[in-house]
Amino acid sequence: MWDLAYVNTRIAAAVTYNAIACQSEVRGWWAQPETQAGIARIVTISDMQIATQITPLNDANRLGLLYRHEAAQLPWRGPIVDVHTHVGDVEGARLFFEVADLFGVQRIWTMTQLENIDAITAEFGDRVKFIAIPNYMRHAKDTFTVDFLKRIEQFAEKGSRVVKFWAAPRGHDFDREGFELDSPWRRRQMDLARSLGMMIMTHVSDPDTWFASHYLDHRRYGTKAQQYEPLERMLDEYHDVPWLAAHMAGDPEHLDHLQYLLDRYPHLYLDTSATKWLVRELSKHAGEYRAFCRNNPGRILFGTDNVANKETLSFDLYASRFWALRALHETDYAGPSPIVDPDLSMLDPSLPRAPTATRRGAAMDPTTLQCVYHDAAVGLEARSPQGDFS
Ligand SMILES: [Zn+2]
Repeated sequence: MWDLAYVNTRIAAAVTYNAIACQSEVRGWWAQPETQAGIARIVTISDMQIATQITPLNDANRLGLLYRHEAAQLPWRGPIVDVHTHVGDVEGARLFFEVADLFGVQRIWTMTQLENIDAITAEFGDRVKFIAIPNYMRHAKDTFTVDFLKRIEQFAEKGSRVVKFWAAPRGHDFDREGFELDSPWRRRQMDLARSLGMMIMTHVSDPDTWFASHYLDHRRYGTKAQQYEPLERMLDEYHDVPWLAAHMAGDPEHLDHLQYLLDRYPHLYLDTSATKWLVRELSKHAGEYRAFCRNNPGRILFGTDNVANKETLSFDLYASRFWALRALHETDYAGPSPIVDPDLSMLDPSLPRAPTATRRGAAMDPTTLQCVYHDAAVGLEARSPQGDFS
């Protein structure tokens, strides 16, 4: 077991130090040539060496943390599988894996356009598994119907073993045929996935904060509870297909509801992706979340929802997701999250610019971490209907 007290003290000191350095008059003093433009320096506070970069702060790093250094300070040393990423192209993949290496992320599952699979595989090989998605770039009437059927087969030929079905309430803003999770088109696509030995992944629902703001028109979007009616219908119908519900099945706010779903559907799995949302909500009941993961071994999989492509190239962006989620799981540190969370100002416009949520770590034991970070993904891969995930 690691020295948690030391880790917490060190993170807290880094946060305090950076907050002071960034906001006070000493900033001018620190702006020596070697510290300009965000170049890091190591400072010593109370016998601890703290890495800091004074400028520039950005929305993925409001605390001025030097993620490259902080990654090595996190306690967990084992390999990690990230089952929820969007690595879009080879340029994004190069920077993504540079960051992933620092955070111990050995393998990923990614939602990537079919056309970019070969280039990414050529460089990163077995580190990447691909999840079938529609061709969002193609603006045609049959993109999510006939064309998706065709692409599911093409993904399967390239070794994909998962098909993603996106059914967030905001999908009703697009005029999309067969959008409902239990529509005839979705069923045809799920039938095809099952016949090809692929498993199903879904995005249903969204944060409570969105149902309190964007989704007030219940006739259009439905209530949050109503999002689970088609999901449960389909879980019943496809009881023989492993099913991964992204973003803690869209309800990290209510772990009792997730426990009901896991108990009711033994083929259901959850991922921890959507860092801002998950960190904000799980921090509110960190102890309950720790028990939830410990009591459901193999059912909760680590995922970040990192989006990496040539338009998003940012070391801090990718690193912030790994760091915030890992610190949530491994430490019991309570304090500000480094990531700006626009949902907070959406609910309370009086908040200062660039608010960040309060993060409270769940300090999971090594056995639980091993499961969430690695073994759950390996177990689900082994349950792939084809029995071969490679
Ligand atoms: Zn995603």
